[in-house]
This record gives sequence, C-alpha cells and structure tokens, in this order.
Amino acid sequence: MTSHTDILRAEISALHAYHVPPAQGFLKLDAMENPYDLPPELQAELGRRLAQAPINRYPDPQGSGIKAGLKTAMGIPDGFDVLLGNGSDEIIQLLAMLVMKPGATLLSVEPSFVMYKMIATFCGINYVGVPLNPADFSLDLDAMLAAVREHQPALVFLAYPNNPTGNAFDAAAIEAIIEAAPGLVVVDEAYHAFAEDSFFSRLQRYPNLLVMRTLSKLGVAGLRLGFIVGAPGWITELDKLRLPYNINVLTQIATELALEHVDVLNGQAAVLKQERTNLLAALNALPGVTAFPSQANFILARVPDALAVFNALKEKKILIKNLHGGPKVLDNCLRFTVGRPEDNAVVVAALKEIIK
Ligand code: PMP
Repeated sequence: MTSHTDILRAEISALHAYHVPPAQGFLKLDAMENPYDLPPELQAELGRRLAQAPINRYPDPQGSGIKAGLKTAMGIPDGFDVLLGNGSDEIIQLLAMLVMKPGATLLSVEPSFVMYKMIATFCGINYVGVPLNPADFSLDLDAMLAAVREHQPALVFLAYPNNPTGNAFDAAAIEAIIEAAPGLVVVDEAYHAFAEDSFFSRLQRYPNLLVMRTLSKLGVAGLRLGFIVGAPGWITELDKLRLPYNINVLTQIATELALEHVDVLNGQAAVLKQERTNLLAALNALPGVTAFPSQANFILARVPDALAVFNALKEKKILIKNLHGGPKVLDNCLRFTVGRPEDNAVVVAALKEIIK
C-alpha cells in the first residue's frame, strides 16, 4: 500500500494546521477582533436583508456591490482595480500562486504575520525572513536591501503596521525597498483603521506596489472579506487564479451594509485607539513590563515570565496570545488585543495580581 511519505511533500507533512485555541467562556483578546457588536438597529437591518438573500443562486461573481462600497468607504484611488478575497489570507495565497515558478522567493521580515511563510511553503516557493532590529522592531533597511539583491524576490510582503510587533515601519525605508525590488511589493495594511499612514497615496508612484487590506480588524472578522488594490494589469492576472464565487451571498449582503455604515465601525476604531493609549500606559506601569508603542489594535509587551503570565490569565478566563517560544526576539512577549474600556480594566486588574 502507498504510504503518506510516498505521496506527500515532506514540508507539508512537517506542518501543523493553523491552531485556534478554544475561547468559549473567555474574555477573548487574542485575535485582534473588534469587541463591539453592531448597534441593534443595524442588526435588525442585517436580519431583514439576510432573510431575503437569494441563497439558491450563486453570488455576484465580481462582488460588484462590495467593490462600489469599498471605493467610497475606503477612498480607493481612481485608476486602480480591486480584487476581493475570502479574508486577506486568501489573497496572500493568490499572490504566492501568481509567482510560483521554480526557484521563486517570497521575502518578508521576522517576526511578522505567520501566513506569509506558511503560504510560501504551501506553494513550494522559497521564503526569506529578514530579522527586524531587536530593540524597537524597526526595519533593518541595509539587511533588507542586501536580501533583495541576493534573492531577487518575486514577492515582498511588508505589514504596515506589523503583526505581532504593532509598529509601523519607516515609510521612506519601505519606499526604498519598493524601488529596489525586482518583483511585486505588497504593503499589507490589515491594521489601517488604527494607523496613521497608508500607501494608497503611493500607488501612482510605484507600478510594482500593491496595497492589501481587510475588514477583519475594522469590525467584521466573521464576514471574511479582504481586498487588494493595484494597477489593473496585476489585478487581472490575480483574478485568473481566484476561485469562482469566492465571496458568498451572505458576506456580500452583510459587507455592503457594513460599508454603508462604515462611520459606525470607524467610530468604534476611534474608541479602541484611545483605549490603546490607556492600555499602553497601564501595561508599562506594571513592574518589569515593557509595552511597545502600537499603531494597531493590539499591544506587544515583554513581561518577566510570559508563560506564567499567560497561564495565570487563562486561569482567570482571559485569553491573549503568547509569543514566547517562537523567534528569540519575542522571548517573554505577549500580545494583547485592545478591548473595550471595561475589558481592558479586567485585564489590567488581573495583571496587577499576577505581576507583583
Ligand atoms: N495580514 C496581517 C498583518 C494580519 O495580522 C492578518 C490577521 N491576523 C491578516 C493579514 C489576515 O486577515 P484576514 O484573513 O482576516 O483578512
């Protein structure tokens, strides 16, 4: 009989499926979700629209209603096209598929969003991760430019702001990388709702630049709606790889509603930004804790003993992300999603008991 090792790729056998810890009954602050529900009147309107959803039919193949909504709500610049994905994760995969020739390289930084490396592995392309400066997680521009020269990457991913560090890299350094790169550079603005800057305004200047975003962090993670903006020539190529009807009917209807009321989501993001300032100060006031400035809806903090703190919070039914045990620069680091003021008060009170 044929064994697994005969037919499977060794690099896939060595992987583990993306793990999501059970969160039932927990204060869930591990996945950068928006903690706020839709206001009741919007929930009611959503119910009305979904009740009439034509689920016997395939959805609009282009998601035209969503695209029109995004153009207005997100200020997508004229002259550029949009491709929709089942989360931006799907778009990362489409991008990797687009460039997957033998020997192709995907370049990013370490630490960053884990799916860049995972998807490079799925697609059988080389992955190179250039370490960030350990002191402040800024880009090591010289090392990045050297890696671009050496590996000639077909695809570069830079998360702006970066996950899990929360900082936004120097924009001029990113521009230098875009100029030096022989292939596509994707600026991943998943946390744009909480950040100060965007590369939308630079699309015109750099033909090899694509800007990717998601509605997940802004407040509708359950809908799974990511998008990428770029020159029509690139979007046309990516669209050839997109599976038919990748955005389902229910997501199309709910996303259109969310975009009509994007001011509600932006208002929630504004509250969370203010709360981020408060949580940062509260974390830094704890003995032996260093919390890093963030332009996202989470905060990275180094604590005296990350595993002990993580487990003690879990005992108290608070779920955050433990990064200890991954890359060395994240030793004793924890990642806290910013919650509602009352959630953050619970976390800070718990930490005061745990870290003395
Ligand atoms: N990019 C970055 C930087 C992220 O942190 C995440 C989610 N953690 C994603 C992309 C994927 O988001 P989604 O698939 O929900 O759009």
